[in-house]
Amino acid sequence: MTLYPEQWRDYRWRHWSAVVGLLFGLPTAFFIAYALSHHFNLKIDTALLIVIPVWAALWLWLALRVTRFPCPSCGAPFNSSHRCCHCGLWLYEQAPPNDPPTDPTDQ
Ligand SMILES: [Zn+2]
Repeated sequence: MTLYPEQWRDYRWRHWSAVVGLLFGLPTAFFIAYALSHHFNLKIDTALLIVIPVWAALWLWLALRVTRFPCPSCGAPFNSSHRCCHCGLWLYEQAPPNDPPTDPTDQ
């Protein structure tokens, strides 16, 4: 069980969408530019000048969503670090157990 499960799920979604946007977005942008250049009889350079800024703007938006993710505890930007620099909450911090485990030798 983790604290703030929905917030950490949202963080994972933001993180992975930015990673996928980087790894697959750029090759996809080249493919789209290639297709546009053939379909509209453009030079590939012209098609790239149209498609790459669109991809870059989308990926920048995805990356900013990761860096601006609000700390679930205090609301300060988490800044993609492993620990909140404001309140000290660790990334994916585990919740303390409700009942401490019992020691079977304690009888
Ligand atoms: Zn915090």
